[in-house]
Amino acid sequence: MLKFHQVHKAYTTPQGPLRVLDGVDMDLEKGQSLALMGESGSGKSTLLHLAAGLDLPDAGKITFQGISIATLDEPGRARLRRQSLGLVFQQFHLVPSLNASDNLRLQARLAGRENPSWTRHLVERLGLTGLERRYPEQLSGGQQQRLAIGRALAPRPALLLADEPTGNLDETSAKDVLTLMLELVQESGSALLLVTHSPQVAAPLDRCLKLTRGHLAEPTA
Ligand code: ADP
Ligand code: MG
Repeated sequence: MLKFHQVHKAYTTPQGPLRVLDGVDMDLEKGQSLALMGESGSGKSTLLHLAAGLDLPDAGKITFQGISIATLDEPGRARLRRQSLGLVFQQFHLVPSLNASDNLRLQARLAGRENPSWTRHLVERLGLTGLERRYPEQLSGGQQQRLAIGRALAPRPALLLADEPTGNLDETSAKDVLTLMLELVQESGSALLLVTHSPQVAAPLDRCLKLTRGHLAEPTA
């Protein structure tokens, strides 16, 4: 479903080009979950941005559902994100002027894929029952991130991209939120590409790959 073929990406810096991805190959099947590990600065977020079509590679090919992302213009890539992807980041990126209920429904609405019974199920499973009318600032960090996860999964996207989604939470709530996210991803039938530092988090996923010096490989330890 998501394929990287010999993907290269460098950034221009005052010190010269910084080669971040140096021939990345990856293949994620429908419904599969993949943990992406690697040191800080190894290029994990860069890889996710490319997968989401938020940036384009310098060389190589990325295909999503058989379509080469580079052949789409920016509106086309935005449409693909809206229709088929869910995105969760370390920062929650909720809309401050919308209450929890409207934040949760936003993505599904934009995608034209509202599903009231699935949304109700998400609200309940995410522990947001009774909090629907609260604004993001009236929610705890953990509640905000659960809301952000619910918003991303509300359209039942083909693929959820999650970049250290619990990096801003304390250890206990991080564990709970991640467990819940993995369960809901399965219920949703979405594939998952999850950036994480934690081998324990990676363990229950179908596969784990590590990004080292621009290459993806099976972790050795
Ligand atoms: P990770 O998510 O694994 O920590 P990133 O993909 O964010 O790594 O970054 C990889 C490397 O590229 C880092 O050295 C980072 O400083 C650099 N980098 C990221 N984005 C840019 C950018 N827009 N311009 C220049 N350098 C960048
Ligand atoms: Mg990162």
